[in-house]
Amino acid sequence: MPFVEEIYDIVVVGAGHAGCEAALAAARLGFETIMFTVSVDSIALMPCNPNIGGISKGHLVRELDALGGEMGKVIDKTFIQSKMLNESKGPAVHSLRAQADKQDYTREMRRVLENTDHLTVRQAEVTEILTEEIGEKRRIVGVKTYSGATYKCRAVVLATGTYLNARCIYGDVSNPTGPNGLQAATYLTDSLKKNGVEMYRFKTGTPARADRRSIDFSKMEEQFGDQRVVPFSFSTDPESVQKEQVSCWLTYTNEKTHEIIRANLDRSPLFSGAIEGTGPRYCPSIEDKVVKFPDKERHQVFVEPEGLYTNEMYLGGMSSSLPEDVQYAMYRTVPGLENVKIVRAAYAIEYDCINPRQLNATLEFKNVEGLFSGGQFNGSSGYEEAAVQGFMAGVNAARKLQGKEPVILDRSQAYIGVLIDDLVTKENREPYRMMTSRAEYRLLLRQDNADLRLRKIGYEIGLVSEEQYQYIIWKEQAIEAEVARLEKKTIGGNEKVQAFLEKHNSTLLKSGSTIAELVKRPELSYADLAELDEDRPNLPEDVQKQVDINLKYAGYIKRQLQQVAQFKKLESRKLPHDFDYSTVKSLRLEAVQKLNLYKPLNIGQASRISGVSPADISVLMVHLEQVGRK
Ligand SMILES: Cc1cc2nc3c(=O)[nH]c(=O)nc-3n(C[C@H](O)[C@H](O)[C@H](O)COP(=O)(O)OP(=O)(O)OC[C@H]3O[C@@H](n4cnc5c(N)ncnc54)[C@H](O)[C@@H]3O)c2cc1C
Repeated sequence: MPFVEEIYDIVVVGAGHAGCEAALAAARLGFETIMFTVSVDSIALMPCNPNIGGISKGHLVRELDALGGEMGKVIDKTFIQSKMLNESKGPAVHSLRAQADKQDYTREMRRVLENTDHLTVRQAEVTEILTEEIGEKRRIVGVKTYSGATYKCRAVVLATGTYLNARCIYGDVSNPTGPNGLQAATYLTDSLKKNGVEMYRFKTGTPARADRRSIDFSKMEEQFGDQRVVPFSFSTDPESVQKEQVSCWLTYTNEKTHEIIRANLDRSPLFSGAIEGTGPRYCPSIEDKVVKFPDKERHQVFVEPEGLYTNEMYLGGMSSSLPEDVQYAMYRTVPGLENVKIVRAAYAIEYDCINPRQLNATLEFKNVEGLFSGGQFNGSSGYEEAAVQGFMAGVNAARKLQGKEPVILDRSQAYIGVLIDDLVTKENREPYRMMTSRAEYRLLLRQDNADLRLRKIGYEIGLVSEEQYQYIIWKEQAIEAEVARLEKKTIGGNEKVQAFLEKHNSTLLKSGSTIAELVKRPELSYADLAELDEDRPNLPEDVQKQVDINLKYAGYIKRQLQQVAQFKKLESRKLPHDFDYSTVKSLRLEAVQKLNLYKPLNIGQASRISGVSPADISVLMVHLEQVGRK
């Protein structure tokens, strides 16, 4: 039987959050790209929480947008509520989160994909990767689908998410399907194993969805969006996102909920061992929470709309895999859910993914040239974590074909750099979720300055326009000029100034000061001081924000920049890729094994591998010196 045979530059397996970004990046860089999914109706599906962003995840979306990715623009067009989290805290942890209309999100991303030149969207299950031997390694040459069709190509990006050998479980119910009852992908894992890829089995879970007509909101706390919405994308006109928003609701579990859960743990597949996969510590199921925090009287439950088109409500904070009857019993103990009707039961999903230490920091497999991967398949969890990896994998697949240096962001440049470095250098035995505490230099990696940190890199890649590039050049200069002006602008303690300071409960001036000094006062801001600073230039909101933060946190920023200088020194000490560490005398055995396993790019990365001690690093540096002197 003749089989279809086609030729592309780049194949992307997956149309989830990772696959979409990978395919768009590759196609927008001019490469003929085909993207596969088991169902084109599930493009950019949100199988779990109906929101984009949140603590540290908002940073990832902003960074992706600054580099030329798509997620930020799509959510700005499809959000139904938006909130800046942690506004009462410092700017390093301010983080945007927007509730999405899930179907609108899928539709909008599909519209973008289907109207992108050089991009073909194809519904088919990829069952095999096709490779050829090149010495000790292999090289990708194509993929094969369930129908036997082959697609020749020069690079592949795997972004299969939670679909590989997926199994959905709650109570005794176990279905070999992907999320939302979609078809699982059941052949590719074997092909990957044949090509020497080491696989893991992970799991994650989701709560039930309820019919909003069966919920009594009078027993819950209404959660509103922000008055003034801040867009995710730096290229979205802020005025275009000021619109009517829906509410979310907050309620709590109670002792009765916890009793029901404790009484049925023996029927939980999580505790009976029916679930083999390893779940995310930072996204625990409700039964996990009740067992791990027995003294906690109540757990938050966020009731969130899935969209404007439906009555389906997401019961956030109560993901579970307990049997259906127990689900009804436990949800109905929660204030407001006494008569709840479940539209979709809560469930856990197990799936195959990889051990990401098999990847270089470019997200290319060390042993299969031209094979890249991103998203949940790499052992992370979350739409945002997936999207940024998909983007980087797509960009680096394209740059490989362009014969250009790969793009690797380090830990001082972006949360994306922290995420990928953690994945490829640390032992990740559970789904990896981003958190602000993972980023050493988080005061520099704020969500508000992602454009200043990454726009130029996006421009160099070729995914940021000339206009956006010129704007960032102008913005940098405008911030610098305004800070310099304020540091020179002096004012005296005249009546008007003292009255102003009194009004703001700020210490009166005993002698002259500069506006810059006043901006540094916690009770004052750059915006407030406009009153005393008549000839100030009319600067856009985003520039004003940077001026305010750069002045207010000048000392902390300076200290963190010094730490980054130290960090960069170690990152710049390159290590040969094919070096055999067993040749370095007095390196401890464990360090030799780990270094040969991970093949770190530089001394900095070597120092972050668990099992490699500071003493080993000194031995290595002395060795490099000696080799260098020969
Ligand atoms: C039940 C459930 C609960 C979750 N809970 C959480 C949570 O609590 N917190 C959290 O942060 N994240 C959670 N997630 C994870 C979140 O959904 C994912 O992180 C995110 O969707 C990953 O994006 P991705 O692009 O890597 O993969 P996915 O969104 O899973 O997309 C994978 C894509 O690959 C395609 N595909 C797979 N295999 C093949 C093949 N062989 N051939 C062709 N196409 C293929 C699929 O059709 C799909 O388009 C949950 C996911 C599920 C399913």
